[in-house]
Amino acid sequence: MNSGNRAVLSAGNEDKELFRKEISDTVEAILDSICDDAAFSGIDPYVLRKKIESLPLLPEEGDGWDKTLESLKTSVLPDMLRTWSPCYMPHLHSPALIESIAAELIISAFNQSMDSWDQGPAATEMEVKVIKELCALFGYSDGDGTFTSGGSQSNISALIALRDKYLQENGWDAKKHGLPSDFQKLRIYTSEISHFSFDKGAHMAGLGYEAVVKLPTDSLMRIDTEKARRIIGEDYKAGLKPFLIVATIGTTDFGSIDNVEELRKIADEYGAYLHADAAYGSGAVLSSYAERLGNLSLADSITVDFHKMFLMPISCSTLLVKDRNTLETFQLHADYLNREEDEEEGYINLVGKSMQTTRRFDALKVYVTFRTRGKDGMKEIMDKAIDNAAYFYSRIADDSTFIAPVPPMLSSVVFATTGGDDENKAIRKALMKEGIIIGQTVFDGRTMLKFTLLNPSINHITLDRIIDRIRTLSKSL
Ligand SMILES: *Cc1c(COP(=O)(O)O)cnc(C)c1O
Repeated sequence: MNSGNRAVLSAGNEDKELFRKEISDTVEAILDSICDDAAFSGIDPYVLRKKIESLPLLPEEGDGWDKTLESLKTSVLPDMLRTWSPCYMPHLHSPALIESIAAELIISAFNQSMDSWDQGPAATEMEVKVIKELCALFGYSDGDGTFTSGGSQSNISALIALRDKYLQENGWDAKKHGLPSDFQKLRIYTSEISHFSFDKGAHMAGLGYEAVVKLPTDSLMRIDTEKARRIIGEDYKAGLKPFLIVATIGTTDFGSIDNVEELRKIADEYGAYLHADAAYGSGAVLSSYAERLGNLSLADSITVDFHKMFLMPISCSTLLVKDRNTLETFQLHADYLNREEDEEEGYINLVGKSMQTTRRFDALKVYVTFRTRGKDGMKEIMDKAIDNAAYFYSRIADDSTFIAPVPPMLSSVVFATTGGDDENKAIRKALMKEGIIIGQTVFDGRTMLKFTLLNPSINHITLDRIIDRIRTLSKSL
């Protein structure tokens, strides 16, 4: 059954009715699929692959909405991961706040694009406003920024923009000429446990992995700033060109926070820029623990992910820059899209600040969520996550079944049972079969388990129950 020309929204009642039906059917299907607290059905990957492979993708004649929805209900939704489950805690992958899912529906229904004003008038003005207020929140008085597809894109954009700015100040226009002949001297310094997007970025920017120097961390998994000063100083004396230091504000595994104040001093000593990768930790700016982040306004740019601690649907991230001219590196005029004369007439074309062209109106999720919850509501969410991690750590820190080497600064706890690598790996897999999904990583050459506590519906009872289950498994495995 095809719905013929009833295909897109219009002022006609039939189209509106079709929209209402398909969206409300979808809402019902989502709600019906949630029947318990488990994070995952536990299905075997080969069985699931077969099930999905057998679905017709492009039948000769369309199956129509009802049959397609039915296939989702029977073959897809049951094996989706339930991010809202209190038993899901392996990654920086959060459940989405309900009002931000509503915003997502508006984003899709109106399908604005952020490249030029005429493709999203209210959307453009809203993104400009949200960016301005985010700059103020992080202490930038004359900053700017752009929404991106995620922390990786924010970091890579920062790397390229700050490299171009550094080269410009040294008399080289990278935008026009590409890399200078001595480009192999350029260096980026980042924690040995920083996110791999800097390696990817260095590769894509034509500098190569070897341009990224990994700085050693201290016992709390923060950059050891004494060693950093020495390493960067020696490189500088040897004729290398440190152009960027990265402070990770919330490392992906440990949530450890590099010292922005010290790294700023080192950056200034050697003429480098400082980027704060706060993809994870930025949420804590709205918590009672904001001072743990340090003074992020000292950084030249900041990555903020809204799809991690802020609990908004993927994707939602920004890159903020202290000097509003930093994003100029992405400006390029096309006659068909963003004519220079538009800007003279007051039309803002945001394409000039981004490596993307067509781009989602993700800023709406920030507006809707912040306005709905306010500072108080957001603080409650952030505090819950951070307090849960502190509680979990306090429960296992003095327990002889466990080792937990790093006290949490944000909402992640890395720990292990004393039973060794095999036991810890087996515990994670056993829990997964029971629908409880936790993380696994390596610390000091040892297999460790990891809780990333973002979901505000996780409470002490949930955590106690899982600790007991792990203790039991540790005895029986
Ligand atoms: C998650 C994360 C990133 C990457 O962000 P995406 O949104 O996944 O692209 C970068 N840096 C840190 C510290 C992160 O935790």
